[in-house]
Amino acid sequence: MFLKQTVPSFLIFLAVMLWTSVASAQWLSDEQAIMGTSVRVEVWSDNKTKGQQVITKVMAEMRRIDRLMSPFKTDSELTKINNLAGSQPVKIGQELMNLIDKSLSISKKTKGAFDITFASAGFMYDFRQKKHPSQASLKKVLPSINYRHIQLNRKKQTIFFKNKGVKIDLGGIAKGYAVDLGIAILKKNNIQHGIVTAGGDSRILGDRKGRPWFVGIRDPRNRQGLVAKLPMRDEAISTSGDYERFFEENGVRYHHIISPKTGKSVDYMRSATVLGPDATTTDALSTSVFVLGARKGLTLINNMPGFEAVIINKQGTMLYSNGFENLAPATN
Ligand code: ADP
Ligand code: MG
Repeated sequence: MFLKQTVPSFLIFLAVMLWTSVASAQWLSDEQAIMGTSVRVEVWSDNKTKGQQVITKVMAEMRRIDRLMSPFKTDSELTKINNLAGSQPVKIGQELMNLIDKSLSISKKTKGAFDITFASAGFMYDFRQKKHPSQASLKKVLPSINYRHIQLNRKKQTIFFKNKGVKIDLGGIAKGYAVDLGIAILKKNNIQHGIVTAGGDSRILGDRKGRPWFVGIRDPRNRQGLVAKLPMRDEAISTSGDYERFFEENGVRYHHIISPKTGKSVDYMRSATVLGPDATTTDALSTSVFVLGARKGLTLINNMPGFEAVIINKQGTMLYSNGFENLAPATN
């Protein structure tokens, strides 16, 4: 008698619990302007309040990275380094030390195509004000563009620039790094499906509940159009393009991806997309492949297991790495 009555009520209780948790599970998202770009977080959560709190935490983390690494904020650690490291070793926090170290290893891997000292010339451009350096002023700063000028001292926790004119800018890697930190926060808070995007850098956690996420590669010459849609799960993707920050003058397109050899905007590419396990690396590699150009860029990626690339060259032709042999064109 006792069992007959309690077992069904227990089962009903379980069913109701299950139903309410499934019924309240949902996609939650938010988008905010941070780091000079648009940051978007979307998660699948069975608790609305908790899900929204996690998104807020990710946004706060993005703001922290911006405060630390922005070259425009006068009180950022990066600005302090740029002001002082040309004349003396400067104390540097562990996090910036690690990211600069990672940048240097990518510089070596890409034979200097990726080089955070591009900023020695980069600071003379202002894409909003349509400002670019003259040939003469470029010539003066070119010797300062060389990642080998950067000296990190792990023991003393300092950074020093061996050339006085050196400036650094982490714009080619910091957004991807921030995206990885965002994904780490999602994981720590038991989120199993989600996406964190900062401008051209995204990382996906899990799948989109039983199906892949589809991430579009934009048509560099048509704001609304896509050239491909890639199915993804548990992966990062970064795109560098000549259409994000640019202006044109006398038929020349001045944009934010700079060849460390010339100090000028790269003029032989429209976009470079790299896929891989983490966004810090795909971010730096998309900038690198853009600077290397199609042939050298694809050779680099084809020699890196776990990474793939899609390139759109100056002629508008799409080229891709070996893992993409069956890439289907986008239908819209
Ligand atoms: P975004 O997501 O801002 O479009 P990208 O990944 O395309 O960023 O990288 C462009 C940014 O990288 C530039 O705004 C600049 O800060 C930085 N950058 C430009 N040229 C280089 C280079 N040769 N090496 C490293 N960083 C670069
Ligand atoms: Mg990049």
